[in-house]
Amino acid sequence: MSIARNIAGIAKGMSITFREMLEPTQVENYPDGPGPLRGAKFEQRFRGKHELQRDENGLEKCVACFLCAAACPSNCIFIEAADNTEEKRISSSERYAKTYNIDYNRCIFCGYCVEACPTDAITHGHGFELASLNATNLVMRKEDMLVPVASLTAR
Ligand code: SF4
Ligand code: SF4
Repeated sequence: MSIARNIAGIAKGMSITFREMLEPTQVENYPDGPGPLRGAKFEQRFRGKHELQRDENGLEKCVACFLCAAACPSNCIFIEAADNTEEKRISSSERYAKTYNIDYNRCIFCGYCVEACPTDAITHGHGFELASLNATNLVMRKEDMLVPVASLTAR
């Protein structure tokens, strides 16, 4: 009886293997071609490198409210707030994030910061090539995450 059950288990496992062999290859050309997530059906759900978004006027959406930092279970978000002035307006609100760092040595890509943000300023992008042998390279700075103004016209 147990022999029959084992054979059935092996047959079931091999059927999955053979079925996958007939599926299109996702990573065939990587790293010379498109990455494994581009165009894949799960791309929308993938939590990659963070992006700091701009509004339709090109102003930064982040208003330095610190809610993302408060929600972060790894305590890896560092923000310094500054006031907007008439001469220098960075965001549409009273304050903006002068400094916004995420320490990827500690980030667990849980998405809590994204969920907590009231202005949709911080989002997950699709970037995943983040490995580094130097831990200091893993501190993402605002400049690394802020989407360029030019990307607004491409939307
Ligand atoms: S994804 Fe999670 S761990 Fe990473 S910065 Fe956001 S809240 Fe913190
Ligand atoms: S990213 Fe969002 S939650 Fe974090 S400080 Fe900026 S506005 Fe607040």
